[in-house]
Amino acid sequence: MTTAQPLDVQPTPLALLLLGRGSDPASERGVDCPGDLPAPSDPGLVERARAAKAALGDKVFVLGHHYQRDEVIQFADVTGDSFKLARDAAARPEAEYIVFCGVHFMAESADILTSDAQQVVLPDLAAGCSMADMATAEQVEECWDALTEAGVADATVPVSYMNSSADIKAFTGRHGGTICTSSNAQKALTWAFAQGDGSAPAKVLFLPDQHLGRNTAVRDLGLSLDDCVVWNPHKPNGGLTVRQLRDARMILWRGHCSVHGRFTLESVREVRERIPGVNVLVHPECRHEVVAAADRVGSTEYIIKTLQDAPAGSRWAVGTELNLVKRLAGRFAAEGKEIVFLDRTVCFCSTMNRIDLPHLVWALESLVDGKVVNRIEVDRETEKYARLALERMLALP
Ligand code: SF4
Repeated sequence: MTTAQPLDVQPTPLALLLLGRGSDPASERGVDCPGDLPAPSDPGLVERARAAKAALGDKVFVLGHHYQRDEVIQFADVTGDSFKLARDAAARPEAEYIVFCGVHFMAESADILTSDAQQVVLPDLAAGCSMADMATAEQVEECWDALTEAGVADATVPVSYMNSSADIKAFTGRHGGTICTSSNAQKALTWAFAQGDGSAPAKVLFLPDQHLGRNTAVRDLGLSLDDCVVWNPHKPNGGLTVRQLRDARMILWRGHCSVHGRFTLESVREVRERIPGVNVLVHPECRHEVVAAADRVGSTEYIIKTLQDAPAGSRWAVGTELNLVKRLAGRFAAEGKEIVFLDRTVCFCSTMNRIDLPHLVWALESLVDGKVVNRIEVDRETEKYARLALERMLALP
């Protein structure tokens, strides 16, 4: 579903980039791959990927995010969500090259968590994340200035979702905040609210996914929708009054996932009518009304585990990325579990899908030739503060 844009909204350079217009010299995203990609029709691609991996041996470790295509996932040494994959890479110090089949912010996180001797490669630099791009460092600094002027910055703790750029993670670390994943968002928010000065709980600035922030605050922690306000980076003062900033407990950044944001209440109603007895299982990046209407809500890992543990004969409509849902439907069909996609419209993550077999083969064969292509490297200053925010997450009670 698309919503009409208010007239005062100006597209950011990154938004133009996502639309295929303009360029962003400060970013690696949206850049064509510098090299000769094999043709997608080359029948030898699978064999070439196998041969390159075998030639590299333990020097290479291929990470595959759950939302990747099957043609790529088959070459992953390990699969998982972004944080698990970054940790898996750090636990493999003998791997000189980490080939991250995922998106840009994930490769950045892997670079932050791995040693200096390890080099992280993203097979296609255009594999960004539209949600992460909805909060730029400049916009977030402007927001923080406004909170300072309103006299609330000192009482505000930033909590940033893993799905954010290294710059945003560093901002979070510098201002005493933590990172969260969709599995530990409740713990992270509980910690953040407890950082108040004793007279009142702290406020939270939640970046960049408004839905995960709202769903966690309201559904899991019992705040009301009125406790939450939304900061729109395209409006003066975020579109909020000083009074609203002072009264709010949760200041939600106006960002969302273009994949999970597509599911609607209508999708839930329609699937319940179509499949009697169906259980609706959704990711917390979905809109609040969808989450409220679902039977179960949880991270990608939770979704996989729920379906794994489900009894034979049960029926599930799953609201998350389509590559994963299709894979799980195939995997559990033999156990008599019926798994369908929550929406009737096909809904892949288009940026995740940019990593295909030709890009993977090109990246691996370049490594065999001693050439590191598409390296993702976070500068030391950014890394220092981003790591601090990640370490706070690891220390959450
Ligand atoms: S599924 Fe959503 S949050 Fe994940 S990479 Fe794609 S756009 Fe970003």
